[in-house]
Amino acid sequence: MSEPAFWNLGLVGSPISHSRSPIIHGAALKASGLSGEYLLYERDTDGLDELLDTLRGGVIHGLNVTIPHKETLLRHCDELDPLAELVGAVNTLVVRDGRIVGFNTDVQGLETALLSQWPSSPWRSKRCTVYGAGGAARAACVALRNIGAGEIVITNRTRKRAQELARLMSQRLDIRCTASNTHDAFRDSSLVIQATSLGVNNREQENVAQRAKELMVLTDPACLLMDLVYSPALPPFAVGARAAERQAVGGLGMLVYQAQRAFQLWTGKVVTTSLLEEVVLATT
Ligand code: NAP
Repeated sequence: MSEPAFWNLGLVGSPISHSRSPIIHGAALKASGLSGEYLLYERDTDGLDELLDTLRGGVIHGLNVTIPHKETLLRHCDELDPLAELVGAVNTLVVRDGRIVGFNTDVQGLETALLSQWPSSPWRSKRCTVYGAGGAARAACVALRNIGAGEIVITNRTRKRAQELARLMSQRLDIRCTASNTHDAFRDSSLVIQATSLGVNNREQENVAQRAKELMVLTDPACLLMDLVYSPALPPFAVGARAAERQAVGGLGMLVYQAQRAFQLWTGKVVTTSLLEEVVLATT
């Protein structure tokens, strides 16, 4: 199929008005010399079929998917990338010959963010913790397996969801994956992925930082933390981890790497992540 003269890209989910994706992909289009726009499609379940028809029909050329549709839209795809199948969720839809192919670029986004932050992979063969049991936590489990974690312990506010995720990931991945209470999950950990929404709400920031400090002191003294929350650039859980004298970063790296991969899947163009990081930071 020939390249569109004007790229129609966008994000489907709800709520999405806070999303940074229009800024990131707007910058990516400009840097690639492509004409186009990236729109927000705020849809509940009712509006999805019509949107998918415009995608299949070539009116929209690519979509990102976010809460609450990542799992539902996986079932509407005509084909799935193996990583999306492992995660059980899609965050990027690409059209190929009128067929919708579902990808999960969060996995590679997180892997690349971790490996560029800590190239020596100190978590290799060691105990790693995933805090959370939603979509981001699922992607984190697959990423940790791919980058050589020794075992994965999942903990979550709703314990049952952690247990279900551990069971699912044990079946799908060749790595020991268990669920545990939060204190035990952090104890002696070498790498923590903070994949809950803790810290997103401005009013709770101090409490979150204090809680993070209490949990991170239980980890191995050389433990690393990646908090997937990306606004502010150093989110409160990461602030608390640093107060416990652990190396900690926020989720901006993952955000730009997953976007870079999605943009490449749609357009074939690779945009430098430093440029994407700059535009997000300028608006944070
Ligand atoms: P999700 O599917 O809605 O899952 C939310 C998770 O947060 C659940 O585990 C939930 O626990 C937990 N949670 C919510 N409020 C909590 C609280 N007050 N205390 C403890 N746990 C709480 O969302 P998601 O897609 O996984 O996203 C999770 C976070 O990762 C969000 O902040 C999102 O912005 C971030 N994220 C970042 C990137 C990136 O590129 N950096 C990519 C994806 C997601 P329950 O099961 O008990 O409700």
